[in-house]
Amino acid sequence: MGPYLCLIDDKHVPLFRILWVSEVPHYCGEEDCLCEGQYEVRLEAGESVWGTREDRDRVLTALEAWQRGIDDDWQ
Ligand SMILES: [Zn+2]
Repeated sequence: MGPYLCLIDDKHVPLFRILWVSEVPHYCGEEDCLCEGQYEVRLEAGESVWGTREDRDRVLTALEAWQRGIDDDWQ
């Protein structure tokens, strides 16, 4: 896995495609909801991927590391 990819569920997602990451697990009350209790990672183009809390935390860690790398390039 390269530094610009993060594993979410079973998908390697490029970090630059991520718009935002959910702070709390999904709940919408729909009986047939397949995402309940999972954390949403929103991608560009209206796509979302869903992962566990561990997935979510891994995304945040990867985004922070990636951002630090960008900051270093500018110094
Ligand atoms: Zn739902």
